[in-house]
Amino acid sequence: EKFKDGLTKTRDNFSGKVNDLVARYRKVDEDFFEELEEILIQADVGFETVMDLIEELKMEVKRKNIQDPAEVQSVISEKLVEIYEGADEASTELNIQAEGLTVLLFVGVNGVGKTTTIGKLAHKFKSEGKKVVLAAGDTFRAGAIEQLEVWGERVGVDVIKQGAGSDPAAVMFDAIQAAKSRNADILICDTAGRLQNKVNLMKELEKVKRVIEREVPGAPHEVLLVLDATTGQNALIQAKTFKEATNVSGIVLTKLDGTAKGGIVLAIRNELGIPVKFVGLGEKMDDLQEFNAEQYVYGLFA
Ligand code: GDP
Repeated sequence: EKFKDGLTKTRDNFSGKVNDLVARYRKVDEDFFEELEEILIQADVGFETVMDLIEELKMEVKRKNIQDPAEVQSVISEKLVEIYEGADEASTELNIQAEGLTVLLFVGVNGVGKTTTIGKLAHKFKSEGKKVVLAAGDTFRAGAIEQLEVWGERVGVDVIKQGAGSDPAAVMFDAIQAAKSRNADILICDTAGRLQNKVNLMKELEKVKRVIEREVPGAPHEVLLVLDATTGQNALIQAKTFKEATNVSGIVLTKLDGTAKGGIVLAIRNELGIPVKFVGLGEKMDDLQEFNAEQYVYGLFA
């Protein structure tokens, strides 16, 4: 239900147009596909993904000898789920250790909703009975540490910090020791996301990761990239840069509730091959949902 609510804007935009298209055509022809292509591109599905999808649809229409535009609609949802799930087998579930400390590293540029997502996720784990510690590794952006502390208080979890401008790797070291001595299950690490200088970004992330790898064998268990769905194709560009800078294992797509172009989920999956693990559907603590391709596609039409 949450999923459906969060996709209201996208659904009104996307399925409204598809319904209108289907109503206007008597048979499925080249013009029909051209219009459909345009609708998908406007929903930010992404050029490559749209081309793949249209190709698949045409083959399916031919194979099943579909004439009625209304029938194409159900094929569209089938193919969308396929595109999403077919990209690879990578699970949308987080890699959480059954025993010992799990370390989750968050990356992403300022303003995408990184802090909010960390807070929401901490809340989720806490309500599952897990002990969570947060590491204030964004020592660069003014206010980032305080903002994480606000979330820490709200959720009721400890935040390990040093002063502004301190070495993020040193913060990680402290946070890991604290998490271990407090017997925490999950350590969630914030980092600064400066894209202006890719070399610095890479160096900083590498240094932070080295400390984590050294102190906790097998960690970080996830490197989660946070992207803002409302930035559309820009989010894709950010993702490509971060992918070059570090091993991103999953994506959190925030503010899906705030865009009519929720097709970006499909573009990310298809063009980057990194699974979307969570989506942000609002500003509140509970507004984080595990991603589910079928629910998503259903939410686009239902
Ligand atoms: P950060 O700079 O990446 O840490 O971004 P913040 O966590 O401070 O979030 C930036 C703004 O986006 C804040 O006003 C958040 O409340 C808002 N925000 C974050 N996630 C979501 C979401 O899923 N939906 C909506 N509507 N707003 C969000």
